[in-house]
Amino acid sequence: MLFLLAVITVSAHFEGGNIGKVEHLSPTHLRCSLVGQVDQDGRNRQANWYYFRIDGAKNRELILDLVSLPGEYNYQPNRGAVTKATVPVFSNDNVKWTFADRVEYDATEPRLRIFVKPTSDKFWIAHTPPYTNQHLSRLMRNARRNPAFKVEEIGRSVHNRPLYIWTITNPEIPEADKKVIWLMARQHSWETFTSWVAEGAIQFLLSDSTNAKRLRNQAIWKILPAADPDGMAAGGVRYNANGYDLNRNWDVSNPRAMPEVTAQKSAILKWVDAGHALHLFLSMHNTETAEYLEGPPNEDGRFLTLGRQLFELLKSKTAFFPSRDISYASRTTTEGKPGRMTVVQGLWQVRQLPAFLTEQRVSAQPGSQRLLSVEDRVKYGQQLVEVMYESVSTVRQ
Ligand SMILES: [Zn+2]
Repeated sequence: MLFLLAVITVSAHFEGGNIGKVEHLSPTHLRCSLVGQVDQDGRNRQANWYYFRIDGAKNRELILDLVSLPGEYNYQPNRGAVTKATVPVFSNDNVKWTFADRVEYDATEPRLRIFVKPTSDKFWIAHTPPYTNQHLSRLMRNARRNPAFKVEEIGRSVHNRPLYIWTITNPEIPEADKKVIWLMARQHSWETFTSWVAEGAIQFLLSDSTNAKRLRNQAIWKILPAADPDGMAAGGVRYNANGYDLNRNWDVSNPRAMPEVTAQKSAILKWVDAGHALHLFLSMHNTETAEYLEGPPNEDGRFLTLGRQLFELLKSKTAFFPSRDISYASRTTTEGKPGRMTVVQGLWQVRQLPAFLTEQRVSAQPGSQRLLSVEDRVKYGQQLVEVMYESVSTVRQ
């Protein structure tokens, strides 16, 4: 009997999708190049976002080699962010994601080899569970039914997508009695887990639980859900549509090249310059294997107590598993070069704000070797807002 096997095809023509050249080494062995992304000067290449669909491979044993991984970070060359530690995720419905159970990493090329037997005719593979503008719109649509949720458009991206601030608070309680806490997700489009954490935080803050009511009564939550909707649509890595890193460039103003930084920074400054309080600001990021909390330059030591409190509470009450003690940023990431300040550094420079940055790893937790799923990240979002509130309510500022 002759079986005619369908040709296996790879595509990424959907929101957030991205894969480069695909070579068929055999009918079931594919070599897939990552596109990666470079900055406005063609430097700092990062190649760690892939999200593609495989058609026609149900129940066939496949080998997928991910290549073209090396890059640069802060102008230092590296072998790439995709390694054995970054376990790909699979889905047979583009909704629920599971971790791959077998990969091999060859450091010499370098190359990540994925062994997979798709369980459906359409099968999706990604670096981390995707979170696109569609996810964000759905979250916003549902949240808007709640009177404690307010949406404000603060500007537009390079490709004219709206940028938002979301506010969550009980509007019936006066502001003077409340703490003000800012939470920022997704400055970099590949870092999808920060969006899952933000979604968990928002769903919890809008829920009927007693703790959530308390957090709405006693705090104003200002959420910047996404800096780079263009990157989220196009399957970008860490730069906006013009190549600018949205977590650098907080010391320069160029609304044409990077309207996203301008919009977010203006919104924050508008808030504080109108006399509103800002007790804590946290920008969330993902890395491959490191996990940490970094505070503002803090040259006068005024946020050391707050930072220590936040760090210790995160460690003891959440899934935060730091790879080092809390640290404080220097004034810039690259001395003497404009456009190299992070949000933390930029906000310190202009208003000495208590802005922190946290990185959460995508690799397994040390010790347990557990990989944190979407559900774990959503739960972390709830824990995070509780701990942020506890930090600001127990530390005098
Ligand atoms: Zn980042």
